[in-house]
Amino acid sequence: YVMVIFFIYVSHFMSTSGKPKSWTNLLSPKLQNIHLADRLSDDPIAIKLASTDFGNIVKEIPAAVLYPSSNNDIASLIKFSHSSSPPFQIAARGQGHSISGQAMARDGVVVNMKSLRNHRNGNGVKVSSAASSSMGWYADVGGEQLWADVLNATLEHGFAPVSWTDYLYLTVGGTLSNAGISGQTFRYGPQISNVYEMDVITGKGDFVTCSPEKNTELFYAVLGGLGQFGIIVRARIPLEPAPKRVKWVRMLYNDFSAFTRDQEHLISINGRQQKNAVDYLEGSLLMSEGPHPNNWRSSFFSLSDHSKIISLLTKYGILYCLEVVKFYDDHTLASMEMEVQVLLEELSFIPGLVYEKDVLYVDFLNRVRSGEIKLQSQGLWDVPHPWLNLFVPKSRISDFNYGVFNDIILKRNITTGPILVYPMNRSKWDDRMSAIIPDEEVFYTIGFLHSSGFDDWGAIDVQNKAILQFCYDSGIEVKQYLPNYKTREEWKYHFGIKWRTFQERKNQFDPKIILSPGHRIFTND
Ligand code: FAD
Repeated sequence: YVMVIFFIYVSHFMSTSGKPKSWTNLLSPKLQNIHLADRLSDDPIAIKLASTDFGNIVKEIPAAVLYPSSNNDIASLIKFSHSSSPPFQIAARGQGHSISGQAMARDGVVVNMKSLRNHRNGNGVKVSSAASSSMGWYADVGGEQLWADVLNATLEHGFAPVSWTDYLYLTVGGTLSNAGISGQTFRYGPQISNVYEMDVITGKGDFVTCSPEKNTELFYAVLGGLGQFGIIVRARIPLEPAPKRVKWVRMLYNDFSAFTRDQEHLISINGRQQKNAVDYLEGSLLMSEGPHPNNWRSSFFSLSDHSKIISLLTKYGILYCLEVVKFYDDHTLASMEMEVQVLLEELSFIPGLVYEKDVLYVDFLNRVRSGEIKLQSQGLWDVPHPWLNLFVPKSRISDFNYGVFNDIILKRNITTGPILVYPMNRSKWDDRMSAIIPDEEVFYTIGFLHSSGFDDWGAIDVQNKAILQFCYDSGIEVKQYLPNYKTREEWKYHFGIKWRTFQERKNQFDPKIILSPGHRIFTND
């Protein structure tokens, strides 16, 4: 009798492969009995992948990884956790391109969103024409889809979304949980400002369709909500006719105020309304190369100018590169050429230091991919990335330049990788969304996109802390983009007056604090 009971007990905790699953101890033995058991894996390779991210600095080991075959699988898992005592934590993982463990779930379950791509039956990106709705053209896109796939699918119809990230191998759910910014943000707002509707599975396991008209609170909570309120399984994205080609121009400045003045003019209402208004605007720093190249030697700057650029870098330490793009089609080529010439005459870059390229629209949007492939082939893609991304109010950008670029960055000379600097407009964001930005109409995004060796990322981390400390000491009210904080106090400071709403929304949509524990917003009580 005892043997029979023992046998039943043991078989109860065995997986279909006959091997006991280690997650039964960490999660709940009862989970073994529901239909999801076969899609949960504690295979060492699955666990290893889910314990790391692009940042390659933080490691959190989950009990299991869910490979969902449907939205229903995700809902069942969350419902199961919600009804368990204690509940276990769950993180959606898109591409895992976070920097500090945001898509991880220690001792919980990581939902490998990619798995859904194999089960969408070709419906991961579904384009609807204006004829079928009053909304104009739009695409219904799975939260697990890559923006690269969204682009390819929509271009087949001659249409495309208007707001992008620089890099397209990120998931729709992952960027909508942050903001999704790039050189189009000043004109169209971030990606979170370009969503008509979403299907979300909340922290209670409820499947909810939300939009600005329906379940409004959840809609705005989720946009920029750091995965805290629900898992996005579908987003409806507006589309516009896609241009065929782009004129892509970079200019060099040695004077920071001239550089920012030109940037601010181009994104201003006047600049945006001009006939020669640009369609995309970014900026970056070029620095004299110490032991660490920051990769300014691209094919963009003609080889014959390299020695001139080097001597300017020796003289000034830093050059500032303004980057703009004009979209065009075959029939607008002539007018575009003229508009660009007029535009260049208005700007104050160093005479002669202007460089142009003419490329397909699709190649422009996918411009980071070739760099990725090159770094991958050199084994330099999967290295630590101690990134720091900040939003800086326009009124303090000059102080930031002196204190951070000219002092901290130049003196330490340890920077590796690009440093991005470009402005955007607050009015293109919606304050009801969870995303946090400075309280000024114009603010800059500053991206320190460092890469490092496995044993020297600490020095860059120290530099990042020095930058934050400088801002704090000087009263520059920066906000982190892709925020990374360790304490409740820091999170409260980050959210400012929106903290209360953020907390209330958490209580409403994920009261058991199940979702996205990797941010450590609610889990360190
Ligand atoms: P993950 O890292 O997998 O997840 C990020 C967070 O979102 C986690 O908290 C996760 O739990 C949650 N999440 C994931 N999927 C969902 C979902 N479906 N529903 C709800 N929550 C979810 N950002 C920009 O804005 N502009 C850029 O130009 C840009 N360029 C980048 C370039 C590179 C090379 C890298 C590595 C990152 C870049 N990023 C950029 C940052 C990027 O947008 C964020 O890191 C984003 O979260 C990555 O998407 P992901 O699919 O990898 O998300």
